[in-house]
Amino acid sequence: MAYDSENIFAKILRGEIPCNKVYEDEYALAFHDINPQAPVHTLVIPKGEFVSMADFTAEASSELITGFFRAVGETARGLGLEEGGYRILANSGENAHQEVPHLHIHIFSGKKLGPMLTKY
Ligand code: AMP
Repeated sequence: MAYDSENIFAKILRGEIPCNKVYEDEYALAFHDINPQAPVHTLVIPKGEFVSMADFTAEASSELITGFFRAVGETARGLGLEEGGYRILANSGENAHQEVPHLHIHIFSGKKLGPMLTKY
């Protein structure tokens, strides 16, 4: 899938629309989800044009891949989630109901999150 530079996270990265920022470095931006599904619901996105995890891991530099995953860990640490624990999740494609076509990792916490998935 080609990257759509008009997607909402691309606009956030360009500063065209605001976000509730949690963490930023040269590789990644983290901000609170606008429609939280848990008491803590934060998104971490890489700085670059990547649709999905497959796209990112195939196309991004090793430096960016490392920097991005460090930023995910740093965001969780900075939010104080290490002690109580948290869940990370990345939706990719239609089966996973990915809504925004820019790679993002969700961080959920702030309560006991229950089983990973509801039974199918
Ligand atoms: P996904 O279904 O994995 O693509 O998740 C997309 C997430 O982006 C959803 O949880 C939305 O609530 C969130 N979202 C959409 N627009 C914004 C925005 N402007 N700021 C913060 N979060 C957003």
